[in-house]
Amino acid sequence: MPRFTTGTRLVVASHNKGKLVEIDDLVRPYGLDTVSAAALGISEPVETETTFVGNARLKALHSARASGLAALSDDSGLEVHALGGEPGVYTADWAGPKRDFGMAMQRVADLLAAKGAWGPPAPTANFVSCLCLAWPDGTTQEFIGKVYGHLVWPARGGRGFGYDPMFVPDGGAETYGEMEPSEKHATSHRAKAFEQFVTACLIPAARICD
Ligand code: IMP
Repeated sequence: MPRFTTGTRLVVASHNKGKLVEIDDLVRPYGLDTVSAAALGISEPVETETTFVGNARLKALHSARASGLAALSDDSGLEVHALGGEPGVYTADWAGPKRDFGMAMQRVADLLAAKGAWGPPAPTANFVSCLCLAWPDGTTQEFIGKVYGHLVWPARGGRGFGYDPMFVPDGGAETYGEMEPSEKHATSHRAKAFEQFVTACLIPAARICD
């Protein structure tokens, strides 16, 4: 597999601004030169797979083949345990075509209320992130991170993105929407998946992947 060196271009295969910010923060210390798929004019593929790994692979391969560069994608979502893991791979879809996450969080809240699942104890949930690194020749590697916690309603805090304002990670009291971004970025599901990517593919001087 090709190797990265400091300054190597890596396409971040996402059109989600929240994810782009977080992935940039994670990659920066390794000296890679990141560029978003959108900045290269690469379209967003339709997510036709039914698993996080499948969709992450599809997105990374699409950008790697279109750009001729290595590409890193993230497919992620929220799994609410009392809802049998929903919205899961359909987490973004619950926000509708306008990506209205207020509406998506309300749907989660209403479904939990209908099941009498608001507690106490509070309903538990986890975020999942599957990162996929793909190369133009079709080679891929996937890395999965999860963070467990509970949900609150009404939602709290205006930071982060997506479902952040209704999720409190275990061991904390603030939602991701209230937390300092640096604190979230250090411990999130995406950071955990990224740690595995670093261990598998990066060495400190940013030479990566045999
Ligand atoms: P997809 O990976 O593009 O299918 O979208 C995943 C969706 O999961 C995003 O649109 C967010 O709504 C949600 N999501 C993923 N990661 C996070 C996070 O760190 N905080 C809040 N919501 C997230």
